[in-house]
Amino acid sequence: MSRFFSERFAELTPYTPGEQPRERRYVKLNTNESPFPPSPRAIAAAAKAAESLQLYCDPSAKLLSEKVAGRYGISPDEVILTNGSDEVLNFAFMAYCDMAHPAAFPDITYGFYKVFAALHNIPYEQIPLCDDLSICVEDYIGINKTIFIANPNAPTGKILPPSEIERILVSNPDNVVVVDEAYIDFGGESCVPLVHKYENLLVTQTFSKSRSMAGARLGFGIGCKKLIADLHTIRFSTNPYNVNSMTMAAGLGVMEDEAYTQKNCQTVCENRHFLMQELQKMGFDMTDSVANFVFAKHERIEGGVLYAKLKEKGILVRHFDQPRIKDYNRITVGAREEIDALLCATQEILEEMK
Ligand code: PMP
Repeated sequence: MSRFFSERFAELTPYTPGEQPRERRYVKLNTNESPFPPSPRAIAAAAKAAESLQLYCDPSAKLLSEKVAGRYGISPDEVILTNGSDEVLNFAFMAYCDMAHPAAFPDITYGFYKVFAALHNIPYEQIPLCDDLSICVEDYIGINKTIFIANPNAPTGKILPPSEIERILVSNPDNVVVVDEAYIDFGGESCVPLVHKYENLLVTQTFSKSRSMAGARLGFGIGCKKLIADLHTIRFSTNPYNVNSMTMAAGLGVMEDEAYTQKNCQTVCENRHFLMQELQKMGFDMTDSVANFVFAKHERIEGGVLYAKLKEKGILVRHFDQPRIKDYNRITVGAREEIDALLCATQEILEEMK
């Protein structure tokens, strides 16, 4: 730390992203990326947009906002596009949390929430998940805080139905409830249709997972017009050009190739089913994930040990050194060859442990 660094941030522990190693080729099942390349339409559109990089991008993101709005049955002023969904989540912490509106989220969830809270000096409560690692809705009823729920949750992959989210919305009418749907496209039911019913609902989604665009950094928030206007105020006060023109073009391209996205999501769901079946045969216990990852533990091998042994064999998964979940590993649902490699390596490790 330099002697110039503001005291405000002296105690800040930044978010630790999953490993992105460049020194060796791993079977990479640690950051829930798509195993499929971006849509050819996205690639072609980004290349075309590169020809005009001397110009600033459109700060109103008009075309893409209209496209996303059309896809989700909302109007363009009910959507905000951001640099990954991390950015819209950050904006939500800035817009809807302060000393009088502390944040609340599960003890086991996306690790960035508490970093955003700390960054903005927002008090926060971490509400323990139930023993089966599901979110206990009762604990969120009438708590009068700004609530962040990843749905499906990460790293458990477990989901609440919209009817349960509605109970939380109804009981906290004076607080915003942010539903982070980064993993919604792999079999979950979205809360987007509820945005016209609840003025306190903000839904966030991303192009990073189902649309194979993690590297392009594109996310969005959907909510009533007034909420979205708040978020634009924050956006125009930080970076009006938050979505670059190549990303914007790629986003339009993939939105015009919905069949490609649908097919890939379908494949991920089939592969998840296969992966869970095979891990179960080997004696793993798993949460009922509806995301593009599974969360698995085995009684004969510690989570951290399995993680390290898989890494030695060239396979990366994600281990969280956190008390309640240290027995588990989160494994991205990759392509069939990647799953086969993981299963084969895991089988070998279990044999070695006998
Ligand atoms: N929410 C959750 C639950 C996530 O796991 C992630 C990805 N790590 C994000 C949001 C942010 O993803 P992105 O910024 O790539 O949209």
